[in-house]
Amino acid sequence: MDYKQLIIDSVNSKAAYYEELAMKIHEHPETAYNEVKACAWMAEALKENGFEVEVGLYGMPTSIRATWGSGRPIIGLLAEYDALPGLSQKQSTVHDPVVEGGPGHGCGHNLLGVGTLAAAIAIKDDLEQNGLEGTIVFYGCPAEEVLSGKPFMAREGAFKELDMAIAYHPGAAPGVSGGTMTGLNSAIFHFKGKTAHAGGAPWLGRSALDAAEITSVGANYLREHIKDGIRIHYSYKEAGTAPNIVPDRASVWYYVRAFDRADIEDTYKRLIKCAEGAAHMTETELEVEFLGGCYNTMPNATIAKVLHETLGEIPDTEWTQEEKDWADAMNKNSPLNNGQPVPPLKDELPPISHEKFSASSDVGDVQHIVPCASFTTTTANSLSGSHTWMITCCSGNSIGFKGMIRAGKVMAAAAGKFYRDPQLVKAAKADFEKDMDGKTYVCPIPKDIPIPQPEK
Ligand SMILES: [Zn+2]
Repeated sequence: MDYKQLIIDSVNSKAAYYEELAMKIHEHPETAYNEVKACAWMAEALKENGFEVEVGLYGMPTSIRATWGSGRPIIGLLAEYDALPGLSQKQSTVHDPVVEGGPGHGCGHNLLGVGTLAAAIAIKDDLEQNGLEGTIVFYGCPAEEVLSGKPFMAREGAFKELDMAIAYHPGAAPGVSGGTMTGLNSAIFHFKGKTAHAGGAPWLGRSALDAAEITSVGANYLREHIKDGIRIHYSYKEAGTAPNIVPDRASVWYYVRAFDRADIEDTYKRLIKCAEGAAHMTETELEVEFLGGCYNTMPNATIAKVLHETLGEIPDTEWTQEEKDWADAMNKNSPLNNGQPVPPLKDELPPISHEKFSASSDVGDVQHIVPCASFTTTTANSLSGSHTWMITCCSGNSIGFKGMIRAGKVMAAAAGKFYRDPQLVKAAKADFEKDMDGKTYVCPIPKDIPIPQPEK
């Protein structure tokens, strides 16, 4: 039998099992580093299907490393299963949370995780039934939504065992990106001053809030002298209690994003000088809490090409009229709706995109360790945007599940090509060497930064 047909049959035969698991994770959304249930369910499914499973490696209780097979190539599959805060949503085409302010799968990582699991099992069926050599390493990667899960895993030694890796993300259209997303550094500047009565004896006070504000004034002047495309954004975490009390504590949380790690490091160093200068001016103390950082994405051209070709080979999702009507109703309620006609669900495969995008993904770290690229399938209405209640909704109904099932097939069929053709793996490695241009991966998170642990 043709191996692609074998893969399609493998995924189809367990579709109900995958949908049930994706639904269970959807109904129990857990945010970054707290994916205790999702991790346990995924690990159990991998064990049930014959994988060697390790949970809690890399100092991360919600990580998974599961393997099957032997010899080369060693191909990694990157799964995620964390939810987003505040994106709880019922099965409704209008915004209506299950729990007001509660978490939800507004990025579809339940589909991402289970679609990748389906691919791992289908690859195993392919390798086993066709007697092929090669190893699958399924990584359950915690905390993508805070962009530090994979960097921490990398810091603790993950991914470098691989010849290459494939990643998948749910989306509003099928596609493969050959363009770059930004990397970032994330840090909170905490200032400690001296409190005093702001009316009665202000000369005795040293305002931590002044320091936080002056940091931002400095950062805003800094913007004039940084390269195009670098982003600096911030939000106050703590800013005093009442006007008549000089605030002795204040903190401001900053992101620095850029399309190149060196630009992130450079701008971040200069931003710290703004904070240090502010502390000096206000006679307050500065503590920098570095929360994490990640690389820009660097999709591997050979893997991207194979993924794109494979997306063209695996039949499109067939939508029912009911699903199209549902998606259409959601589009009508989307803030992205500008009155122009759009298909409710996008099926057309566009050429590989080379656009730059100023959001970030921690897959970038893996892409600086081994050759790796990712693809999307349609799992939500065409105007769902990113990180929205519409995505939460579609990630828990047949629209999301159908896209997830297709993703499992695409990922496994693409991997099948690499397991069959050592030259293709070589070509991916050659692209990687060229892209790295002699540089090596250095984890953006220093050794002394502790890994966040589940809350309970
Ligand atoms: Zn995501």
